[in-house]
Amino acid sequence: IKVGVPKETYPGETRVALVPANVQQFKKAGAEVIIQSEAGEKAGYLDGEYLEKGAQIVKSREEVFANADVILQVRTLGANPEESRKDIQLVREGQILVGFMEPFFVKDLIEEVAKRGVISFALELLPRTSRAQSMDVLSSMATISGYKAVLLAASYLPKMFPMLTTAAGTILPANVFVIGAGVAGLQAIATARRLGAVVKAYDIRPATKQEVESLGAKFVELGLESQEAEDKRGYAKDMGEEFYKKQREMLTKIIAESDVVISTAAVPGKRAPVLITEEMVKGMKPGSVIVDLAAERGGNCELTKPGEIIEKYGVTIIGPVNVPATVPYHASQMYSKNITNFCMLFIKNGEININLNDDILSSTLLTKDGKLTNSIFD
Ligand code: NAD
Repeated sequence: IKVGVPKETYPGETRVALVPANVQQFKKAGAEVIIQSEAGEKAGYLDGEYLEKGAQIVKSREEVFANADVILQVRTLGANPEESRKDIQLVREGQILVGFMEPFFVKDLIEEVAKRGVISFALELLPRTSRAQSMDVLSSMATISGYKAVLLAASYLPKMFPMLTTAAGTILPANVFVIGAGVAGLQAIATARRLGAVVKAYDIRPATKQEVESLGAKFVELGLESQEAEDKRGYAKDMGEEFYKKQREMLTKIIAESDVVISTAAVPGKRAPVLITEEMVKGMKPGSVIVDLAAERGGNCELTKPGEIIEKYGVTIIGPVNVPATVPYHASQMYSKNITNFCMLFIKNGEININLNDDILSSTLLTKDGKLTNSIFD
């Protein structure tokens, strides 16, 4: 069997789904690897390195789709809808697609690939279990985003992060507040701490308190956190506007006192909750910075413009999109390791065997045998 990696086609995408270091793992499992020429170039992985590891390089996207049984991508279907509509001409019955598919809002497109008999696995639907951890692309990419958000904030802040005692006097450390202590938030806390900031964090899931504290940050208690806020998969629930209104009131003071706010609050399949209003931005000190990592999902700050850096009331509001693509070397390395581990669940001894009793495969499967198979479509 053959596994193929086409070049990413989403505007600004720099990652590649497979790096040379993981080619061998496929070969050991009895799969040949086909890479579209220059697929890894933007991430720093050259054709020659793939060749050295035993992959085959082909010129065109068409050749990859025509020859591969399994197609590995970073973005496909809902995560790259325009180009994926063109790719539909290239796919065939029984072909397997693996990648980020943002399946929630593009049912028509997914129905289309289902009709073609394609088997598709959306990696954002991986269960957050310990067995799935080595495949967890969401965690890998969130780690990168959390790290990069702090660097962005630091570079726009007119202050330094660390406390310094110098002959020119004492410099006080920056105050950083992180909203949402999931994977990205925790990495943001760790990174801000490494740069010497004083860090506070908040999440509505009480389980995060201990994680926040273990990173040396202070957990802000609003009294709103409760077990009720967490669903059985460990994600936050949609708490409704009444709740968010209360939350905003209680966050106002701490946001006003912060030099940097990094917001990461998200609810799967929903618009991100609005936790910072225009009024709250007005209350911040001039020069303060907000990095809204929820920008792609509507933003935690009312003023956020996805993909833009704006200044309002003296506050810089950064709404970065596709942050992992700004660190493509390591983002690709992590993604590649995750997707390789995932594929090893169904590629063995040169054969494909999809066991739907495996919860990792069944929960990520979107389409098979002409049908939509995932409960997110119910
Ligand atoms: P996410 O990106 O969906 O959300 C980010 C954070 O925002 C979450 O911590 C969430 O609780 C928080 N949030 C949502 N609404 C909020 C609000 N109104 N105010 C403040 N915070 C709010 O989450 P994620 O980073 O993908 O992590 C989701 C869960 O999965 C977490 O419990 C995480 O620990 C768990 N996880 C488990 C594994 C594993 O065991 N394999 C791996 C990764 C993550």
